[in-house]
Amino acid sequence: GREIHLASRPVAMPTPDNFRLVEVAVPEPAEGQVKVRNLVMSVDPYMRGRMNDVKSYVPPFALDAVLDGGAVGEVVESRSPDLKAGDLVLHGYGWREWAVDDARRFRRLDPVAPPSAFLGVLGMPGLTAYVGLLDIAAMKPGDTVFVSGAAGAVGSLVGQLARLKGAARVIGSAGSAAKVAHLTGDLGFDAAFNYRDGDVSALLKQAAPEGIDVYFDNVGGDHLTAAIARAKPFARFALCGAISAYNEPVPGPDNMTLMIGKRLTMRGFIVSDHNERMADLIREVGAWYAAGEIKAEETVVEGLENAPEAFTGLLRGANTGKMVVKL
Ligand code: NDP
Repeated sequence: GREIHLASRPVAMPTPDNFRLVEVAVPEPAEGQVKVRNLVMSVDPYMRGRMNDVKSYVPPFALDAVLDGGAVGEVVESRSPDLKAGDLVLHGYGWREWAVDDARRFRRLDPVAPPSAFLGVLGMPGLTAYVGLLDIAAMKPGDTVFVSGAAGAVGSLVGQLARLKGAARVIGSAGSAAKVAHLTGDLGFDAAFNYRDGDVSALLKQAAPEGIDVYFDNVGGDHLTAAIARAKPFARFALCGAISAYNEPVPGPDNMTLMIGKRLTMRGFIVSDHNERMADLIREVGAWYAAGEIKAEETVVEGLENAPEAFTGLLRGANTGKMVVKL
């Protein structure tokens, strides 16, 4: 089977030579283990941080070893009573064609949706949007909600959830005219702007003339500065990501003293602290998704050998919705 190794640590934007495609022997499952053929794997922005040799909330990837990450596969051989051949499973052994390990490392999925949905709307990004908007930012009906990275996996769900939860106005930002048209045309955003069109503060002011109650931050930098400037009194910010700063350092907001007079709340969060909300996500968002009220767009890249390209594409904004690699 084939797998992708980290060949060297990227400086700024990753390049193809940071990765290596390697052929390895696939072990036979031992007692208690299963053998899984991967169908689809995820590439996610947090993986960029793990490519640096620094301590974070997840340990760094090792050099010259296989990468890992979310994936969905099919059990082809089982030596455990807990799983059987044909079961669809979610697990952390992405970036490879085959996964062999103890059955408890794999979570059996109810095949109520296509496999890739469990890496997106019904998986980690979906939970991130759900928890960040409802629990961390405590969005209420009537709020004006702004989300950056709005055409991506998390952001597109945040905007649609806000609308379904009774937001008065939903505003998104993204990096192209086509994405902006997608937000207002397909996803029901009330307003959207292309952050490359000019000063983000001016663009946000135009889109939210009366200010914002909630900001869901996927981007950091000038987006966060702009949101502080446009925040209404008692606005709540969920700090989810800062993708503008993942490849190069960017300055933080220079207007944080506004937080005092405006009585703002800003709260960072990590989705894995909130797994107890997964059942609520599946119930509530799963129903909206099944009814077609939530759209879960995907950008699909074919072939394990193209996974590095999918990952760098994600960092450059080549995706609309969730970026996945079909194996
Ligand atoms: P996305 O699907 O949103 O993909 C990343 C997107 O980021 C790209 O499509 C691109 O869109 C945008 N982007 C890249 N560079 C910049 C930049 N310099 N400025 C603005 N936008 C940029 O990824 P996810 O939905 O998976 O993740 C979104 C955010 O949520 C990330 O910051 C991620 O780290 C964070 N996250 C946090 C979690 C947590 O537990 N706190 C869990 C999961 C995700 P465009 O064309 O619009 O530029």
